[in-house]
Amino acid sequence: MKSSRLLLALLAVGTVTSASAQEKVLNLYSARHYQTDEALYANFSKQTGIKINRIEAKEDELLERIRNEGANSPADIFLTVDAARLAKADELGLFAPVKSKLLEERIPANLRSPDWFAFSTRARVIIANKETVKADDVQNYEDLANPKLKGKVCSRSGSHPYNISLMAALIAHVGEARAEEWARGVVANFARAPKGGDTDQIKSVAAGECGVAVSNTYYLARLLRSDKPEDRRLMERVAIIWPNQKSYGTHINISGGGMLKTAPNKESAVKFLEYLASDDAQRYFADGNNEWPAVASVAVKNPALEAMGKFKADSLPVATLAKNAVAAQRIYDRAGWK
Ligand code: FE
Repeated sequence: MKSSRLLLALLAVGTVTSASAQEKVLNLYSARHYQTDEALYANFSKQTGIKINRIEAKEDELLERIRNEGANSPADIFLTVDAARLAKADELGLFAPVKSKLLEERIPANLRSPDWFAFSTRARVIIANKETVKADDVQNYEDLANPKLKGKVCSRSGSHPYNISLMAALIAHVGEARAEEWARGVVANFARAPKGGDTDQIKSVAAGECGVAVSNTYYLARLLRSDKPEDRRLMERVAIIWPNQKSYGTHINISGGGMLKTAPNKESAVKFLEYLASDDAQRYFADGNNEWPAVASVAVKNPALEAMGKFKADSLPVATLAKNAVAAQRIYDRAGWK
């Protein structure tokens, strides 16, 4: 009698425990696919006991999926790279505002909005072939439109978010009319029609097929840190230039995310965002992909980033980039920057 009651009590406790254990999950939709992120997520589960169910896909697919799932979407967090992409999710009304003292304290104001947070930054720099282009001639983004560089500029598509965000920054600094003039000038300097990703531009510049291009810093760092000697040799032929050091600074983009409006596990979601701003997570998140932590007090020891040196970063709020994204795409379209 006694023992069966005890058994019932134990069963009841067991049921309650497993029910609450079931609640401790976080459904993460991530467009980041870096192997180094594994440790980042495992560490969160270890610290909080919250299990992460992760779905990784391309950002547009994830956004489409979240929209299709609607109110029933299991997604708690959407993580992605690039301000323009975060802006897109925000514009679609997918994010819920997150109020967190910790996030407000740790993430600088220019790297967040009420709806999303940046957790790492990357710079978009000019790269030049050391033999065919003088670094002095390409100290600013504006210089890429100089007729001197006719037939020397290579680029990835104008529709790519990295270039959209760069244009969005230019719009903020010089206005739409001059930004469009710039785009037309760069298009007139193209060595070839836009194609490939940033790494393709680096390789083409190293090979001398192109004189100049722009690239995100982590692609350069990846080659600088590569195990393959041929990758490092490639970088010997490429000059890295921090653009606009005497004016508004080098354009910065971000990797970040936010909590979804329909998130079923809101508490876990906020915990996860706060975790990403912690010292440990910042190191994984940024350094794993050769980026800089968004939290200023977190130092990373990354030889490739250190080799690139210090620079003045554009302090434009990332939210401004997001706001100018549509105007930026229109300018590329009008300028014929396919
Ligand atoms: Fe990238």
